[in-house]
Amino acid sequence: MNSKPARVRFAPSPTGRLHLGGARTALYDYLLARATGGQFILRIEDTDRKRYQPEAEAEFVRALRWLGLEWDEGPDIGGPYGPYRQSERKEIYQRYAWELVERGHAYPCFCSAERLQKVREEQKRRKESIRYDGHCRNIPPAEARARVEAGERHVIRFKMPREGQVVCRDALRGEIVYDNANLDDSILVKSDGLALYHLASMVDDHLMEITHVLRGSEWLPTFPLHVHIYQAFGWEQPEWVHLSVFLKPSGKGKMSKREAANLMKDGRSIFITDLEAMGYLPEATINWIALMGWSYDDRTEFFTLDDLVQKFSIRKLNPAPAAINFSKFDHFNGLHIRALPLDDLMRRVRPFFERAGYQVDDEKLRQIMPILQPRLKTLSDAPEVAGFFFEDRAEPDPQRLLGKRLTPAQALAAARRLRAMIDEWPDLSQETGEAPVRALAAEMNVKAGDLFALLREAVTGRPVSPPIFDTMVILGRETVLQRLDRAIEILAAMEN
Ligand code: GLU
Repeated sequence: MNSKPARVRFAPSPTGRLHLGGARTALYDYLLARATGGQFILRIEDTDRKRYQPEAEAEFVRALRWLGLEWDEGPDIGGPYGPYRQSERKEIYQRYAWELVERGHAYPCFCSAERLQKVREEQKRRKESIRYDGHCRNIPPAEARARVEAGERHVIRFKMPREGQVVCRDALRGEIVYDNANLDDSILVKSDGLALYHLASMVDDHLMEITHVLRGSEWLPTFPLHVHIYQAFGWEQPEWVHLSVFLKPSGKGKMSKREAANLMKDGRSIFITDLEAMGYLPEATINWIALMGWSYDDRTEFFTLDDLVQKFSIRKLNPAPAAINFSKFDHFNGLHIRALPLDDLMRRVRPFFERAGYQVDDEKLRQIMPILQPRLKTLSDAPEVAGFFFEDRAEPDPQRLLGKRLTPAQALAAARRLRAMIDEWPDLSQETGEAPVRALAAEMNVKAGDLFALLREAVTGRPVSPPIFDTMVILGRETVLQRLDRAIEILAAMEN
């Protein structure tokens, strides 16, 4: 058990959809909160109104719920530290921005876009690093205040010390030391009065008493700014945890929007709600992403969410980049499908049959669960593997009825014999049926495999299916005979 109860937040910007990286951050947040008896908070960072997407928040909520990561405080359920949407906290950031100005750690900047553009071009020309040149840094505070009060357009910038160093502690990387001289006077509040992440997130984390900030390592470059802001306010810093980056499946280069679009062409997706539609289980998704950047003992691979709560600790997080491995995902999905109670599997697989257009009969669905369960990689495989159980008839493919080597005449003769045998068997089980089919093959001097292929094609209309005898037991003798009759018809037509 980790010591003190942790307060952790997942703070997505509603500018897109929840992807694997975000889901992993949310998972680790959740695990840390649950492992320590603390709280998991959902905060919506919607201050960037240009990139704001109105459907995004609902999509995040749906995806997180599907994963089973329930939060204790959030915009939809409230809580003692609300509001939990940054667009509803504008005044708070204003107040804190001006507190920094008063303490001499920030200043209003009145530079026009044109001026800043010129400065940038000049810096580029001189091959200097691009940054604010400090033009408004030393305007006397009273004068600056008067200009603001007179309504002059301005932003608020952080007044970065020009000398010295800042020591930033990351839980996975230890101390990282930055030279202040290389840091910029970043904007904290834009001219429309809205705070940027650098201010809003720090203020919220402080006010919401967040103990651990888990976030992507894309925040490492601005990490020193964030530490400076905490120090300028005189606040105690949270534990900072910058998680590993995700690499493309090839391991070459970071995962990007472009790569995500490429993956879609291969039928893969990094978006959580897509994974649901593709027939992945939330349990498998959780298991897979948990291990992209964390390990328990390097051996155990199967974890439920409860196991993870028991075993999670941030000490075992690994900052090394992790390549997204979709075959591993398929593997985990198979494991979790096989771990489901049949009732549960039945409930989950049903919509996939229905979406594929099958009328699902409950009794039959229940019967096929044991033979379906070991064969599914994703739930969406189910109609392909077992849809024929719900079809009135199977339309066999004439060529496939011949297996690898039968002539139409042989196949027709075999189909007639099989029909007669099956009509006589006491039941359709493998114990009853296998030996006679093999004996028939020997008698006809053909391969048993070809007779099984013929039988399979006739009964299911597919070249692969669950074990043929199990399948016939569930379909029932009447249906099997009808389907054989149809195959005989087709073969007779071929023969002529
Ligand atoms: N809104 C930020 C993002 O989406 C959150 C980063 C953080 O967790 O601090 O990247």
